[in-house]
Amino acid sequence: MKIGTPKETAEGEARVAMTPASAKELQKLGHECLIEAGAGKAAGFNDAAYKEVGVTVVKSGAELFREAEVVAKVRPPSDTEAKRLKEDQTLVSFFYPASNEDQMKGLAEKGVTVVAMDMVPRISRAQKMDALSSMANIAGYRAVIEAGNNFGRFFTGQVTAAGKVPPAKVLVVGAGVAGLAAIGTATSLGAIVYAFDVRPEVSEQIESMGAEFVFLDFEESGQDSSSTGGYAAPSSPEFQEKQLEKFREMAPDMDIVITTALIPNRDAPVLWTKDMVEAMKPGSVIVDLAAERGGNCELTVKDEKIVTDNGVTIVGYTDFPSRMATQSSTLYATNIRHLMTDLTPEKDGVVNHNMEDDVIRGATVTHGGEVTYPPPQPKVA
Ligand code: NAD
Repeated sequence: MKIGTPKETAEGEARVAMTPASAKELQKLGHECLIEAGAGKAAGFNDAAYKEVGVTVVKSGAELFREAEVVAKVRPPSDTEAKRLKEDQTLVSFFYPASNEDQMKGLAEKGVTVVAMDMVPRISRAQKMDALSSMANIAGYRAVIEAGNNFGRFFTGQVTAAGKVPPAKVLVVGAGVAGLAAIGTATSLGAIVYAFDVRPEVSEQIESMGAEFVFLDFEESGQDSSSTGGYAAPSSPEFQEKQLEKFREMAPDMDIVITTALIPNRDAPVLWTKDMVEAMKPGSVIVDLAAERGGNCELTVKDEKIVTDNGVTIVGYTDFPSRMATQSSTLYATNIRHLMTDLTPEKDGVVNHNMEDDVIRGATVTHGGEVTYPPPQPKVA
C-alpha cells in the first residue's frame, strides 16, 4: 500500500510522522512510501534523505492526500485535511476521540478508517506502539533541561577553589512516564530529587531511580490504581489537604519543581498553590507539564513562561516533544512503523485491519463506516 506523510500544518509543530529510517522499515513490509516536500525539514530530515531510501517526494499536501492509501501524521487532521480524506483511506495520527466527536463522526460517515495513536492500549504487547509514552518520556526529559536553562546554578553540588556549591533540590510531582523520565534526568545531572505520587505502588520505581519518595502521614483507602487501569483516581479532600500541607512545608527549600500530575478525563489537579510559589526562593523554577489541562500550579499560564514578583520562573509550555523534534519524530515514526507491522501480518504490503486484535481494535476509532469508539476493555494485560 502507499503510506504517505504530509507536512504538519499546526502552528509551531516541528515533528514528522515518517523518517528515512522508518520508511526503510515500512518498505520491508511491502509498502510504498510518500512524503510531502519539506515535511521532515523542521525535524532535521531533508527531502534528499527520504529520496535516498526510495521515498517518493510529492509537491503538495493535496497531492499527498490524493495519492496515499494510508496517511500517517502527528496531529489530528485540520479541517482541510479532514475534507481531503476519502473513502477506504486510513488515517493514523493522534486523534483524541473524546474531544473530537464531530470530526470522528464525519470521517466514519465518509468511510475513512481512523487509527488513533493516543488510543493504543497501554498493555505490555503494545508498548512499542505507545506514542503517549514515547512523547511523555521526551517531555519529562525536556522539562528538566528547560528548568536548567532557566536556573542560575548547577544541578550537582561541587566543591571548587572558587567556593562550595550546594546541589539543587528538585521535586517531581506525579511519577507516571513523564515524571519518571524527569526524575532520571535530574538525578543523572546530580540534583537531590524528591518525588510524590498518589499511587503508592510507584514509590519503589522512584527510589530505584535514586530519588526520595515523599511520604504522607495519611492512609488513603482505594488509592491502589489496579482498579483504574494504572491511572490515578481523584483523592479525598482530606488526602488533598495533607498533600498540600506537605508541599507547603517543602516549598521554601525546593529549587526546581516539575509537575506532571494528571487524572484521566479531568482538569489537572491544582497542587502547587500561589502561596507555595510565593514561599519559594528567587531564582527557583517551576515547569508545569500539566499546563495543557489547566496546570498543576495555580499561576501557570499555558504556552508561556512567566516570572513572578518574587523571582520564580514558571514554564507552561505544552510543546516539549516538538522542541526536540528530531528525537520525538524518530520515536513516533518508530511507534507508527510497529503499528503498521501489526497491520501488515504477511509483510506483503497488504493491510489487514484485524478488529479481533485487542491493540488494533482499541486504537481504531472509525472503521467500516462506523464510529468504533470507545473500544471494549482489552482482554490481555
Ligand atoms: P498520567 O500522565 O495520566 O499521570 C501522571 C501521574 O500523575 C500518574 O502517575 C498519576 O498517578 C499522578 N497523579 C495524579 N494525581 C496526582 C496527585 N494529586 N498528586 C500526585 N500525583 C498525581 O500517567 P501516565 O504517565 O500516562 O501513566 C499512567 C499509568 O499507565 C501508569 O501506571 C503507568 O505505569 C502506566 N503505563 C503502562 C504502560 C504499559 O504498557 N504497561 C505504558 C505506559 C504507562
